Amino acid sequence: MTIETNNPEETIELGKRLGLGLTKGTIIGFFGDLGSGKTTMIKGIAQGLGVKDLVKSPSFVVVTEYQGKFPVYHIDLYRINKPDELLEIGFFDYLYGDGVSLVEWAERAGNLLPDNAVKIKIEIINHNQRRITITNLSQPL
Ligand code: ADP
Ligand code: MG
Repeated sequence: MTIETNNPEETIELGKRLGLGLTKGTIIGFFGDLGSGKTTMIKGIAQGLGVKDLVKSPSFVVVTEYQGKFPVYHIDLYRINKPDELLEIGFFDYLYGDGVSLVEWAERAGNLLPDNAVKIKIEIINHNQRRITITNLSQPL
């Protein structure tokens, strides 16, 4: 499904709606340029999952763990250059742990992103508009 948002608040709202229905073990990979809105949408998803902490862009950390209805792993692969490094950060332990994994720069995981992962692609239309395409989602939004 593809949805267009007209400002960051709408992207947060969309994330929240999605987050409300997510089940344990769900993995979501985010694809999109720097500044497209991946972290913004993750803020909403975390809210939908009941996270009270403020979600922010991890600058030097690869994984930030939040607690909501269940654990929420915010994983940013921006600094990952080869698949070996995924093992070093315990990538698969998060993915197959008992929380929801939200993976920014999922392209860096290549084909190691599991087939059952939900994929969210965010494209910049202009300054305030984004085209958000969600695939492989098994629940209604
Ligand atoms: P990324 O994590 O993809 O690098 P961020 O979520 O950190 O991107 O930043 C997105 C930037 O784009 C923010 O400054 C946000 O305010 C801005 N923005 C403008 N319009 C939108 C929109 N419709 N949806 C999401 N972000 C938007
Ligand atoms: Mg980001």
